[in-house]
Amino acid sequence: MAASLKAHECWDVIVIGGGAAGLFAATVAAERGRRTLLLEKNQQLGVKILMSGGTRCNITHDCTWREIVDRFSPAARQFLKTAVASLTPQQVIDRIEAEGVLTKVESTGKVFPVSNRAIDVRDALQRRMQRAGTQVQLGCAVQSIHSASQSFVCRCLLTTASRAEESSGDEVEFRGRKLIITSGGQSYPGCGTTGDGYAWATTFGHTIQPLKPALTPLITETPWVRELRGVSVESCRLRLYKSMGQRPISEQTAALLCTHFGLSGPGPMNLSRLVPTVATAPRPSIEIDWSSDMSPEILAERFAEWRRAEGKRQVARATPLDVPNRLWNALCLQSGVAPETRWAELPKNTQQRLIQNIKRTRVELHGTMGYRKAEVTAGGVTLSEIDPHTMESRLVSGLFFAGEILDVDGPIGGYNFQAAFSTGALAGNHA
Ligand SMILES: Cc1cc2nc3c(=O)[nH]c(=O)nc-3n(C[C@H](O)[C@H](O)[C@H](O)COP(=O)(O)OP(=O)(O)OC[C@H]3O[C@@H](n4cnc5c(N)ncnc54)[C@H](O)[C@@H]3O)c2cc1C
Repeated sequence: MAASLKAHECWDVIVIGGGAAGLFAATVAAERGRRTLLLEKNQQLGVKILMSGGTRCNITHDCTWREIVDRFSPAARQFLKTAVASLTPQQVIDRIEAEGVLTKVESTGKVFPVSNRAIDVRDALQRRMQRAGTQVQLGCAVQSIHSASQSFVCRCLLTTASRAEESSGDEVEFRGRKLIITSGGQSYPGCGTTGDGYAWATTFGHTIQPLKPALTPLITETPWVRELRGVSVESCRLRLYKSMGQRPISEQTAALLCTHFGLSGPGPMNLSRLVPTVATAPRPSIEIDWSSDMSPEILAERFAEWRRAEGKRQVARATPLDVPNRLWNALCLQSGVAPETRWAELPKNTQQRLIQNIKRTRVELHGTMGYRKAEVTAGGVTLSEIDPHTMESRLVSGLFFAGEILDVDGPIGGYNFQAAFSTGALAGNHA
C-alpha cells in the first residue's frame, strides 16, 4: 500500500495512527483535496476494529447523535456535540453500507455488519480512504515530533513485515503542514496502542487528564462466583460500592458474564472505570440483582405458586426464574437450600435468604484486569485545550487531536467508535 514516499516532501496533512479516528481523518482530508499521509505503526490498519465486538465490530448505536453524546460524561458531552452532529450514527452506517457492507441493529441497539465480520468494516473504511488518495505508510512507528518552519516533522522508525520482529529499523522523517494525532490510548498495548501520543501532546504544552483503564473486566476471589465461569445473564442490575456496606457509587442494568477470574460483560465493564486496578482493603464490592425485573414481593408470589404447582420437585433442580441452571444451583447452595429439599418443604426463612441472594448478591472486588483487557483508556488530552468545532489544538496552530487520545470515553455499545469516527472526520475536515 505504501507508495515510494519521498521523506523530504511536505505533505498537506499527516495523520498518525490508522485506527478508527485516523481512517476517518485521513479519508476526509484527502477527499478535500489535501495531500494526506497516514503513518501506522502496525503492518495493517484498524487492528482494534478487527478485534472489536468479539471480532464482529459494534460499529455504532442505533440512536440519534444527541443520544450518543448523552452517554458520555458532562464535559465530554459538551465537547462532542459538534463532532457527532456533523457525522451522525446514521451517516457512519450510510458510509459503510455505501461500500457494500450491510448493517443490522441487534435488540440491544448495537449496530453490527450483517456478515458479523469486523474485517468487512475495516476493509470498507480502508477502501474509501484509498479511493480518496491517502498515502499510507505501514510499519511506521513515530518516535518523536517537532515543529519547524510552520510545519511538523515526524521522526519515525520503519520496519517491514519481515523485519517487524527486529527491534531496529530504518529511521526516516516526514514533514506535514498540518498534523492530526489519532494514536489512541494505552489499552491493549499489544495492538500498538502504547500511549505514545500523550508524550507528544505534553511536548506541545498540552495537559493530560489522569489515565485509567476503562471497560475492563472485574476481578473477584469469591470462589463460587469464579466457579460459575461461562454463565451469562442478559440483564442484571449491578450496584457498585466503595466498600462493604456503604451507599452505591454507581449502578448499571446490563448483561453480565461470570469468568474464571471474576465478572465481565457490558455491566461490570461499564462500572470498571470506578474500580481501582488493584483494590486493597477496605475493598469495593458489587451487588448483583440477578432478576432485576421482579421485586422481592413478586418473587415471593412466584415462589408461592411453585410451592402449589411444583411442590414435589426439588428446589435446586427446578428454577422459577429465567436464569441458567448452574446459577440457580449456586444461589440455592449459598442460601442453605439442602439439595433434597422440595418446593413444598422450603422453610420460610430459607426462602427469604434465597430471595435476598437473588436480589442482592454482594461480591467483594480485588481490582480489574487493567489496561491489558481494557477496551478504552479513560483520561487523556484535556478537552478545554482543544477547539470542539475543529479538533484543533488551542495551543498550537495546525495541530489536531481526535479519538481515544482525547479525554473522552463512553460505555459499551458502539459509543466509542462513534466518538472516534466523528472527531476524526471533524479533524480531517479542518486540517
Ligand atoms: C478488544 C476491544 C474491543 C472493542 N470493541 C469495541 C466495539 O465493538 N465498539 C466500540 O465502539 N468500541 C470498541 N472498542 C473501543 C475502540 O476500539 C476504541 O474506542 C477505538 O479504536 C479508538 O479509536 P482511535 O482511532 O482513537 O484509536 P485506535 O483504534 O486504538 O488507533 C490508534 C492507532 O494508532 C497507532 N499508533 C499508536 N502509536 C503510534 C505511533 N507511535 N506511530 C504510529 N502509529 C501509532 C496504533 O497502532 C493504532 O492503530 C474496543 C476496544 C477493544 C480493545
